[in-house]
Amino acid sequence: MCTKTLPDTMMGAVLPGNSSTQLHSYDVPTPGHGEVLLKMKASTICGSDIRCIYHEHLGKGPEGYQGVIAGHEPCGQVIAVGPGCRQYQAGDRAIVYHISGCGLCNDCRRGYMISCTHPTYRRAYGWQRDGGMGEYMIAEEKDLIHLPDELSYVDGAQVACGFGTVYEGLEKIGICGNDAVLITGLGPVGLAAGALCRKLGANKIIGIDVLDERLAIAKDMGLVDEALKSGPDNVAEVRALTGGHGVERAVDCSAHHAARLTAIQATRKWGRIVLIGEGGKLEMQPSPDMIHDQKTLYGSWVTSTWRMEELVERLVRWNLHPSDLVTHRFPLEKVDEAYALMASGKCGKVAVCYDEELHA
Ligand SMILES: [Zn+2]
Ligand SMILES: [Zn+2]
Repeated sequence: MCTKTLPDTMMGAVLPGNSSTQLHSYDVPTPGHGEVLLKMKASTICGSDIRCIYHEHLGKGPEGYQGVIAGHEPCGQVIAVGPGCRQYQAGDRAIVYHISGCGLCNDCRRGYMISCTHPTYRRAYGWQRDGGMGEYMIAEEKDLIHLPDELSYVDGAQVACGFGTVYEGLEKIGICGNDAVLITGLGPVGLAAGALCRKLGANKIIGIDVLDERLAIAKDMGLVDEALKSGPDNVAEVRALTGGHGVERAVDCSAHHAARLTAIQATRKWGRIVLIGEGGKLEMQPSPDMIHDQKTLYGSWVTSTWRMEELVERLVRWNLHPSDLVTHRFPLEKVDEAYALMASGKCGKVAVCYDEELHA
C-alpha cells in the first residue's frame, strides 16, 4: 500500500480558542475504505478560522470545532490509498474540498457538500475531522480534486475555500468586460475577487477597505484600479468613478453592515450584488435600495466540487496563480506566528507550508 516508509508519529496544531495554537504529537493515521493518506504540502489560513475558532469557539454541537487538527484549506500529495479507492494513487497531487459530506443527500448530489444535510456524515476538515495543520492527513477520495502540474500546492490550497468561494459568487452574478465591479473588503477573499474579475474581463475594479495595508496590497498587486478607504462618502465616490451611475456588479467580501449597504447602494439600476462575507448584519430600505432600481441580490456559500474542477482548469488556462496572494509562509513549528499574523489582518494570505513549498 505504501510507497515509502512512513514515520509512526507526526505533529499537528489545534486551536484552543483563546487566540493561541498548540502543537501535539499524533500517530500517523492509516487510510480506511475509500480514504487516502496525504502528505500535507500547504495549508492556508482562512478568515473563518480566525473568527470562529482561533479567538473563540463560536459554533456549538455538531457544527462546532471538535478540537481536531485545524486547517480547512489543505493541499497535498497522496502517499497511500485505502481499500476501495477508485481513481487516486500514491504520487497524485490533490486539492481537498474542505467539507466531507454524506454523498447521498440532495446537496451532496449537486456537489455542494458544504450544505450536506446529514447530521453526522457532514464533517468539515479542520473543524470536525483532522485538517491540514498536520504533517499527514486522511481525506476521503470523493473529496479530492486533481491538482494539475502547472499549479503549486499553495495554489491548490486556496482553490476550495478562497478562490472557489469567490468564483462561485462571481459566476452567479456574471462578470464580463462590460462591467465595472465594486469589491467591499480587501482581505484574501476580496483580493481573490479582484484577481478573478480581471481574468473574467472586468477592466474597472474598485476596492474598498478599512485597513491601509490591505488597500496598498490590492493596489500594488494590480488587483483593483481604484482603492478607497472605507467611509461615509463611499457611495458618492463609486458613482463619481462610474459616470454617476454606479457599478454593474458588486461583491461583498467584508461581512460589515456598512460595506454591504455601500455595495448595494453603489450598484446601478439593473445591477447585481453578491454577498460572500460571512456573519454580521445588513439593514437596508428595500424600495430605494433594491426594488425601484430593479437590482438583484445573491447569497453565495462556498462552491461545489464540479465548479472547483472547472476553476482549476481555468486557473491553468489564465496562468493565474492564487499563491501570488500569499504574503507569508511559515513552517508548522511556527504555526502560532502564522495565526497571529492572519488575525492582525496586516497581510495577504498566510500559509503553513511543508517540504518544497516552504521555500518556494
Ligand atoms: Zn475557508
Ligand atoms: Zn450529504
